[in-house]
Amino acid sequence: MMIESGLWESIAVSILGLTTSQDDVLADDPLASGARLAIDLAAVAYNYRLIEAKVGATVAAVVKADAYGLGMAPVALALAGAGCRDFFVAHLQEALALRREAPLEARIYVLHGLWPGAERAAADEGVIPVLNSLGQMQAWRRLARQRGQRLPAVLQVDTGMSRLGMSRHEVDWLTADPEIFSDLDIRLLMSHLACADHPDAAGNARQRAAFTDVIARLPPVDQSFANSAAALSARPSFGGLVRAGLALFGASPVPGEDFGLRPVVRLEARVLQCRSICAGDGVGYGHTFIASEAMRIATVAMGYADGWPRGLDGRAAAYFGDQRLPVLGRVSMDSFVVDASGLEPGALRAGDWVELIGRHQSVEDIATAAGAIPYEILVNLGPRLQRWYAPADAPSLDRTN
Ligand SMILES: *Cc1c(COP(=O)(O)O)cnc(C)c1O
Repeated sequence: MMIESGLWESIAVSILGLTTSQDDVLADDPLASGARLAIDLAAVAYNYRLIEAKVGATVAAVVKADAYGLGMAPVALALAGAGCRDFFVAHLQEALALRREAPLEARIYVLHGLWPGAERAAADEGVIPVLNSLGQMQAWRRLARQRGQRLPAVLQVDTGMSRLGMSRHEVDWLTADPEIFSDLDIRLLMSHLACADHPDAAGNARQRAAFTDVIARLPPVDQSFANSAAALSARPSFGGLVRAGLALFGASPVPGEDFGLRPVVRLEARVLQCRSICAGDGVGYGHTFIASEAMRIATVAMGYADGWPRGLDGRAAAYFGDQRLPVLGRVSMDSFVVDASGLEPGALRAGDWVELIGRHQSVEDIATAAGAIPYEILVNLGPRLQRWYAPADAPSLDRTN
């Protein structure tokens, strides 16, 4: 049964108590927090469909780490509205939370597999573990036999990242056992690339060859190999079930490449104070910035506790209208300072909103300036930010283009 996205929206609104009107959050409420994050669920749905159209394969959504900091349940509901039926999380705990918070008829896979003793809870909730070792596999088979049920699972093999999945020796052992798949319903054989964000890296071809070799040695089974970067850059095409995370959330998974993804987040913060400083005055902790002339500066209510990276010391900017206000000195826990000298005196006042991520500055820009990756920027967007979700079927937020 296909449920219309409008219905998923009303489910999201009623179950999650989501704000339905942008005005509720975007009004200048004196009791509200100093920074606000708008999350465009229509853009998430758009990106899902875009990836699906580009790869011509089934696309699963990776919604681990609270959907990369954007809210697992509302994001999953929006994706379900776009047709997604496969969701990956890292921990069982996240899978159980997803089951609880979002009533989806969907397959939920746990990338880390299960700790010993967690098998019953996972099976009771119909969660599909990714089995990363023979130990995890044996425990899952044991429960399957006890229950007289072919429990679903994904097998992960390590093809060269040396992080998770069965080693070459474990695969040898597996292929020597004709009964390997008999107790279990193995849905997918999966592996993960170490260098997908560098599509031409030799490691990708080596991992691909290693994966092809394992596929040939096991009974026929569907495959899952590609994350966002591998799926979108598609050199070569990886097919199967694609596991997309970052691209759904609007950031390019391959630095410098534009895949036509829509930005999903807009971040703004309020000005706490404006002041004038003189030549020789230092700004912020450690005085890493010293004014060489008189300046007008402003203090913005967003700090590293909210996910504004400390690495932005003297890099990136806030925007007031189209005016760029460069970051001065170190980012504090709750605030940072910008140079407002480019504005007319009095043009910027306490309480005004400045843009931190949006039309002028992308998640990727912030990541580059901070020496980080877009993933880190998104997952660190903190709990103090006031969040507003633009519904999946509502007109979209401002676009970069
Ligand atoms: C996080 C993760 C993904 C998603 O990666 P993106 O680069 O965000 O698309 C896919 N597969 C595995 C195994 C992961 O851990």
